[in-house]
Amino acid sequence: MPDLLEVTESGLYCPPGDFFVDPWRRVPRAIITHAHADHARPGCGRYLCAAPGKLVLRTRIGAAAPIDTLRHGESLTINGVRVSLHPAGHLLGSAQVRLEHAGATWVVSGDYKLQADPTCAGFEPVPCDVFVTESTFGLPVYRWQEPAAIAAEINEWWRTNRDAGRSSVLLAYALGKAQRLAAMVDASIGPIVAHGAVMKMVEAYRASGVRLPPIDRVPPRARRVGDGRALVIAPPSVLGGSWLNLFGAASVAMASGWMLLRGVRRRRGFDRGFVVSDHADFPGLLAAVEASGARRVLVTHGFSDVLARVLRERGLDAEVLPTRFVGEAAPDAATEDSAEDDDDTSTVHDQAHDVGGVDAAPPERPAP
Ligand SMILES: [Zn+2]
Repeated sequence: MPDLLEVTESGLYCPPGDFFVDPWRRVPRAIITHAHADHARPGCGRYLCAAPGKLVLRTRIGAAAPIDTLRHGESLTINGVRVSLHPAGHLLGSAQVRLEHAGATWVVSGDYKLQADPTCAGFEPVPCDVFVTESTFGLPVYRWQEPAAIAAEINEWWRTNRDAGRSSVLLAYALGKAQRLAAMVDASIGPIVAHGAVMKMVEAYRASGVRLPPIDRVPPRARRVGDGRALVIAPPSVLGGSWLNLFGAASVAMASGWMLLRGVRRRRGFDRGFVVSDHADFPGLLAAVEASGARRVLVTHGFSDVLARVLRERGLDAEVLPTRFVGEAAPDAATEDSAEDDDDTSTVHDQAHDVGGVDAAPPERPAP
């Protein structure tokens, strides 16, 4: 039986359906797992995404882009291939793509997490023959704390800063992580303000029906913001620029799965690192593969060699699905957008160096 998906120079292509999933280039027809810049690129002829993610995708790829939607679980037949979209738990509207054709079922996970997230539908396992999984954190060292424990850490940091008259600057990806953090923290501690890049997505979330606490936009020509009580949510790109001077004395923290590694925190000069990710941790990846029931697994994005090897040791037919040539810059790599987006590759290299090989002992546990 021929494969239902193959890697082409434009990305993951379904020959019988004549469409792409998360294409790297402009193609006539694209199914989009979620709106992060490395999965959703502007300029395609026609888009299909999960209905809850339509406004977020539109904010990213432009007002004129033709976007069709499917509700979670609803199906559509494209050139004989039955297509449906199922919650991936990564951010608002993120979906796994299920394809069924000639008796075979494939599922493309996109990015996903198993942890609860108040801003999006939770991950749902989708039974399939072939599961295409991401592996951003596909090393055994990556294990996350429960969201409530992370929220308690962040609240404690914010409260301590507030009592000392310091602003609390929390750096996070502008789409997904920033909104999730706003929904996780205790908004009674003080005011929440956000950078314009975050606010753009906060507005798309609100317009999509997601409840978030009050968040004020930092005015473009502000001279001084807050009185040392605010939680300031901003993309990592503000680091090193003058924008942070608006908040006077401040503690700067980064919220990312990469914060598990002390070396990354130290080199980047944050006061604090909160280990919180919108990707599955290592046990989560294994659990998702198992829940899919797939006998064949194609691994992409991140530590794909390691995860594929572990899955083979468990008796599965697992291999790395080659994606974009390593070292090739994404078309939008130079834009501010991608710098704010998702988990960037320079950090991957940093942390791979830190781990010093797959079998190295974890350098530390997440901050208590
Ligand atoms: Zn993503």
